[in-house]
Amino acid sequence: MTLRPETLAAQALHAIDAETGAIVPPIQMATTFARDGAYRLAGPGYARDENPTFVHAERVLAALEGGPPNGALSFASGMAAATAVFRAACAPGDHAIVPRVGYFALRAWAQKWGARWGVAVEAVDTTDVAAVRAALRPATRLVWIETPANPLWDVTDLAAVAELARGAGATLAVDSTCATPVHTRPIAHGADVVMHSATKYLGGHSDLLGGMLVAARTDTELWARIAEARHDEGAVLGPLESFLLLRGMRTLFARVERQSRTAQSLAARLAERGVRVRYPGLASHPQHAVAARQMERGFGGMLSIEIGGDAARALAAIGRMRVWVPATSLGGVESLVEHRFTVEGPGTPAPPDLLRLSVGLEHEDDLFEDLVQAIA
Ligand code: PLP
Repeated sequence: MTLRPETLAAQALHAIDAETGAIVPPIQMATTFARDGAYRLAGPGYARDENPTFVHAERVLAALEGGPPNGALSFASGMAAATAVFRAACAPGDHAIVPRVGYFALRAWAQKWGARWGVAVEAVDTTDVAAVRAALRPATRLVWIETPANPLWDVTDLAAVAELARGAGATLAVDSTCATPVHTRPIAHGADVVMHSATKYLGGHSDLLGGMLVAARTDTELWARIAEARHDEGAVLGPLESFLLLRGMRTLFARVERQSRTAQSLAARLAERGVRVRYPGLASHPQHAVAARQMERGFGGMLSIEIGGDAARALAAIGRMRVWVPATSLGGVESLVEHRFTVEGPGTPAPPDLLRLSVGLEHEDDLFEDLVQAIA
């Protein structure tokens, strides 16, 4: 019987503790594991090698992303997961492509790291397939994309870029944090590695920091290097975070489908009032056709609006909000508003009047009315 992703997620792969029958897995806090009389290990030896609680979370996400059962690795943060891919894929003299629009801290890190280690890191508009083709070089080892991408919600054609990367012998890695496996499974579109900041939708409650990678195949040199680096460098996910992540993923589909429905409706209602809205689910979005092809069940819980005027006007609008919480991050049950222009500083692609909205689980009308009064 092939179970559907909602079932796999809700039951955390039908988790039943073998010793007690508990339907909630125990949190394994042990950092070290005893050997038997012959000095053999039955399972893990040390918590930096492996911990049953994070292995369980990894297996759930691997199933949701359509990777092999042992094809996920958890990390202490999304950045720890993402940077592990760059460091494993690229050596001095290599070339990597990063998106012109995407999580700014990762782009900034990649450019600093590349400059220090002699890796040419090039920012490209990955929504433009011809631009990606033109940027590929014999030395390109990694194509990194994010879709939909912070904070403008650009959508990249995964299948088209996967074909180009494959042809060039480069790894395609996809930051799928905002799509989640509810809306997109990049491996099915040809990606080699999927990355999540588990801090966002996978955890879902703004109470854990974590990162995840899922590989399309585990028998590659790249994946072996990533696994070795996590073990040696030790940026593993803690047991409490693993437990919270497992619990969060059980409600992933219910949360994300509802957040996406609310986001779609807010986007339409705001656009109807003449507000400039960036949301992949609107026909006015420049890559709506690509999004409709590669996203399922909706277009995600993130949107941005441009309210006109300068940064001070945008900040004043945020100051008037009573429901939306002014805070960074995204993907939790509470709706957040952020002024990326202030947060990212010089070089940001975010216009000064842009408000980034992470839609939570509140009543849609409360969210709508609060926005309307704040931006009036
Ligand atoms: N990728 C995206 C799209 C993000 O929004 C973030 C965090 O904001 C990250 C990666 C980094 O994840 P973390 O904060 O868990 O290190």
